[in-house]
Amino acid sequence: MSPYTGRFAPSPSGPLHFGSLVTALASWLDARAAGGRWLLRIEDVDGPRTVAGAEALILADLERHGLHWDGEVLRQSRRTAVYEAALAQLQAAGRLYACTCSRARLAASGAASGPAGLVYPGFCRNAGHAQAPGRALRLRIDDAMTVGFTDRLQGPQAQCLGREVGDHVLRRADGLIAYALAVVVDDGAQGVTHVVRGADLLTSTPRQIFLQQQLGLPQPAYLHLPLVTDARGDKLSKLTRAPPLPGGDPRPALHEALAFLGQPQPPAGLSATELLERAVRAWDCNSLPASPGRTWAGTLTLATGP
Ligand code: GLU
Ligand code: ZN
Repeated sequence: MSPYTGRFAPSPSGPLHFGSLVTALASWLDARAAGGRWLLRIEDVDGPRTVAGAEALILADLERHGLHWDGEVLRQSRRTAVYEAALAQLQAAGRLYACTCSRARLAASGAASGPAGLVYPGFCRNAGHAQAPGRALRLRIDDAMTVGFTDRLQGPQAQCLGREVGDHVLRRADGLIAYALAVVVDDGAQGVTHVVRGADLLTSTPRQIFLQQQLGLPQPAYLHLPLVTDARGDKLSKLTRAPPLPGGDPRPALHEALAFLGQPQPPAGLSATELLERAVRAWDCNSLPASPGRTWAGTLTLATGP
């Protein structure tokens, strides 16, 4: 078995845009250059945000751009029992507690805002509420808990989870599993050794590493790519209605994504397959631009959305 397993993990909230192509291409190139496997996982754990038809568009776009994945597509919506088993493991280790706080109570507490939003003030931490439907489950984070890691591109990172993240919700009152838990359980189940994804998730990585440690899962290597931003400096995203990738010939988009990633331009006139083979041979993650945000005024991103 190859020592490298990578993955691309889109949320099916809309079609791929230039920013998601950059992420998919970089993680595919990094895997293929290492002779590794590249898996595809559909992150539809958040049912209400899933857009009908988006998954089919994403799969078709990946195929059209020559980014073929290995094995079966994993879908988070089918894995609730696996996430529940992980919650039971955390519960047995004394890491979970039920929370009965209403939104109004949390808002009135004036809890400090961290990168994760509200840092929970711990009202229910020692209340001993029983787990019950309609009650959220929170992860107990010791106040001084700090987690560090070295990102392959962004360098050394450290975060005090106690101060900046706090006791966050792993299962919402309505039963929805938190993305952080699903991603950690799935990366572990899929044997992912290398995560290549957007820098918007850089500050979510320490809490994922903490969960890996609590669940006894190995820690993958991380590389957080610069984000493609629009002229206003906002991240291209499905939520800001970034234009979908143009249809037809995939090569202009591939050339542009390689340029964004600081990789050499393959000569014109190659087939998409040849272009990607060249790009695999030339792949050099030391040429990646490290700045977490990068405005890109390429022709693809200037195209207007629907
Ligand atoms: N599903 C996440 C997204 O679409 C990516 C998660 C990950 O790569 O860990 O932004
Ligand atoms: Zn509470």
